[in-house]
Amino acid sequence: MFQPGGDKKVLCAGLICLDILSVLDHYPVEDTDNSMVLDEMREFGVEIDHVVMHDGCDFPSSTIIINTHTGSRTIIHADKDLPELTFSQFQQLDLNWYKWIHFEGRNMTEVSQMVNAVQEFNHSASMEDRIIISGECEKAKYQPEYFISTVDVLFVAKEYAQHHGFTTAKAAVHGFHSRVKKSATVVCAWGEAGADAMGPDGVHHHTDAYSPGQVVDTLGAGDTFNGAIIAAMCRSLPLDEVLKFGCRVAGRKCGQFGYRGLR
Ligand code: ADP
Repeated sequence: MFQPGGDKKVLCAGLICLDILSVLDHYPVEDTDNSMVLDEMREFGVEIDHVVMHDGCDFPSSTIIINTHTGSRTIIHADKDLPELTFSQFQQLDLNWYKWIHFEGRNMTEVSQMVNAVQEFNHSASMEDRIIISGECEKAKYQPEYFISTVDVLFVAKEYAQHHGFTTAKAAVHGFHSRVKKSATVVCAWGEAGADAMGPDGVHHHTDAYSPGQVVDTLGAGDTFNGAIIAAMCRSLPLDEVLKFGCRVAGRKCGQFGYRGLR
């Protein structure tokens, strides 16, 4: 029975929103995020001559909440209007310049054509001019399965392996190894459990994660790991050394913010 006043409360029907503020001493000038990112890539020694620029488009961007006790991260991602790389843009490249091409497992309609083009190049190239092709299966939603039977080095991310029912890197490496080319290598990183790999000889390798002491920022550990693996394989190190190097560099990265000074 309604009784005005008394101990009755006010009910608010809606949802709760957490606002996180980025406080800057001046508002960013238009396009300075682009120049900042490109400057930093140059500084890290990444050649950017073939970056496709889209006037008036913004990078996808992420706001990341890091738990300093565990290094865990929560990512709020905003994918704006930057178009994906197309096969016709890729065709502008002179493949003679490259010894290794790594593909992200996304935009697979275009990327599968890029992989085919590199394979065609390899068919007519001499042994020493052949390009090693690697591909990363990370997000199942992009259906990167085309890589499995085509690439020379298959990176299987934990997330993708779990999507396929694997509960350890060892099981994932065994599972995917039976589906790749005979000459291919499968590599799978598994967070603080380290990483596993299997090359064409079918020998299984495991490396524990390298502890940085205190974990402060695991964002980009997977990409750091992949980059270090590619760098070590380019130096023709044996697979167990390659894995150790990958885990060491990725572990160091987890002990610092960002990527500066990593080797
Ligand atoms: P992603 O960033 O894709 O989630 P992972 O979490 O699988 O990548 O980590 C990739 C590699 O980074 C692991 O194989 C491991 O060597 C290293 N790594 C990740 N988390 C840690 C951690 N907490 N401590 C030490 N090394 C880690």
